[in-house]
Amino acid sequence: MKSSIELGDKLHEECGVFGVFLNDPLRDAASLAYYGLLSLQHRGQESAGIAAVREKTIDCRKGMGLVGDVFNADTIAQLRGSAAVGHVRYSTTGSSCVENAQPFVSRFKLGSIAVAHNGTLTNADVVRELLEDAGIGFISSSDSEVIVNLIAKNYKKGLEKALTDTIKFIKGSYALVVLTDDALVGARDPNGIRPLCLGKLGTAGPSNGGWVLASESCAIDAVGGEFVRDIEPGELIIINNDEVLSFSFSEKTRRAVCSFEYVYFARPDSIIDKVDVYGSRIRAGEILGRESAVSADLVVGVPDSGVPAAIGYGRATGTLFGLGIVKSKYVGRTFIAPDQAAREKAVSVKHNVIGREVRGKRVVIIDDSIVRGTTSRRLVSILRKAGAKEVHIRVCSPPVRFPCYFGIDTPHRKDLISNENSVTELCTSLGADSLAFISVEGLLESLDANEENSYCLGCFTGEYPIPVSGEEASISPRGR
Ligand code: SF4
Repeated sequence: MKSSIELGDKLHEECGVFGVFLNDPLRDAASLAYYGLLSLQHRGQESAGIAAVREKTIDCRKGMGLVGDVFNADTIAQLRGSAAVGHVRYSTTGSSCVENAQPFVSRFKLGSIAVAHNGTLTNADVVRELLEDAGIGFISSSDSEVIVNLIAKNYKKGLEKALTDTIKFIKGSYALVVLTDDALVGARDPNGIRPLCLGKLGTAGPSNGGWVLASESCAIDAVGGEFVRDIEPGELIIINNDEVLSFSFSEKTRRAVCSFEYVYFARPDSIIDKVDVYGSRIRAGEILGRESAVSADLVVGVPDSGVPAAIGYGRATGTLFGLGIVKSKYVGRTFIAPDQAAREKAVSVKHNVIGREVRGKRVVIIDDSIVRGTTSRRLVSILRKAGAKEVHIRVCSPPVRFPCYFGIDTPHRKDLISNENSVTELCTSLGADSLAFISVEGLLESLDANEENSYCLGCFTGEYPIPVSGEEASISPRGR
């Protein structure tokens, strides 16, 4: 059974990908992949895997659990080779089992490849059926295996053609890293929904120079690399023998980066598509303060992503900022919470209040999002119990009313509390004195949205950048 505190009350990132290509064939890339994956651990905690290539042979280790559970010094040492790809996973498509852990490796007559994918293919079922009809077998239920099998099927056309033909065939969201016998490849879907960036390793460091691809720039920092640039939507890059070749495989399409990456998923020290995540959270708080200020004595953020927004809100409204809510870092995302009663218990373990900070005060709490409402209800209750005179909730994303089809785990629409309730009804249900969400326009302002920088807002507006069955399919006119 797949259930957790975070699954219960937060949207859930699905995966993180990492790739490294070292110029020196005698250096080992797997340990860098290990450190890269550790810094992407927040993007997936169910399974982890690394594949490395040596003398045209790809070897792979993967397993269930955190990066530190799956790998140790011995397993990393066994993965020899100067190029590697890695993956951390939280599943939405395909069940939670080791068969679905990535990277997926395919060995065939002309070579071998390993693929790590973040995102969701919207036409995976159709492509899978076509491949099965052509006699190609699958070992997993993951849509990512469709990609590896398609590349393998097309490989006789040559690497570049196999990749572009595959990528043109698949639909949906993807940030891909692919390891071949002699190259590292990166690709990002034509809307750039999921992030992917390029970094460079200097010749002065222990790696002796090379290239890195990662879901977030924090992973490039973690391995001592230098951020070079984001991979563009619809761009394919092939890294081989210290050469970085870039190809555009789609018509110029409007960028539709997942806005939730900035609200909640990404690490605050990452920069995605030139927008720094921490700065966007501070701005969201400032805008919330401008849009829905309330008289209060203290503003506190719900850790972790609510904290920068609380700082911004405090600055904008002149409200004192404090650390009134504590989060246990050790209640992991894999904590089993199969029903609502168990989820509420889990939330009690996860958050507590510093009583002396809030007693007798009118408190504003800033959260990144409200999904089911379990966390907010519990926080209001424990703040009141600790003596807070008033509790006001401000949320730095608009109400989540629609599911995500692009790699983020969302509850059924009926369980999205904002889909079922007006803001007034929700405020009463949470037991708060007032409740307000940032507007869609406010969120876009926090992300510096403009003609060049446009965002996916699907889970807030129901308007999606790619056709999805049963849903409207367009970039929101407000999505700019
Ligand atoms: S619908 Fe769009 S904005 Fe919402 S989580 Fe999915 S990709 Fe992100």
